Amino acid sequence: MAHTYDPQNIFARILRGEIPNKTVLETQHTLAFHDINPAAPVHVLVIPKGPYVTFDHFAADASAEEIVDFHRTAASVCAMLGIAAGDGYRAITNAGVHGMQEVPHYHLHILGGRVLGRLVERA
Ligand code: AMP
Repeated sequence: MAHTYDPQNIFARILRGEIPNKTVLETQHTLAFHDINPAAPVHVLVIPKGPYVTFDHFAADASAEEIVDFHRTAASVCAMLGIAAGDGYRAITNAGVHGMQEVPHYHLHILGGRVLGRLVERA
């Protein structure tokens, strides 16, 4: 999959402060904010501040510092929202056409607050 980053994508605009967001947590390399169209009572997006398109792009090309910061921030979000020690959650990321990714900036969805159903529909 090509990893050409579009700097006009909506999350890039959020990171530049051009569009507001409901921030949960911000660190040097990572931003976590509430999804504008939540699919569950808890629906937070965790994004790296760097220009990465997908999970595999981030995992392959980001620095170790960025990768650790991203995952520590995601863990803090789970703790802050009470889902890690509670009834659980789902962390998912979509990539490309088959993954039905809408925003081409890598993001981890953290969903919780209800039973979420099966992971994917069977074709
Ligand atoms: P995906 O389909 O995995 O690319 O998910 C993109 C997610 O971004 C969707 O759940 C949208 O509701 C969410 N989203 C789009 N625009 C915004 C925004 N301005 N603020 C917060 N979440 C957004």
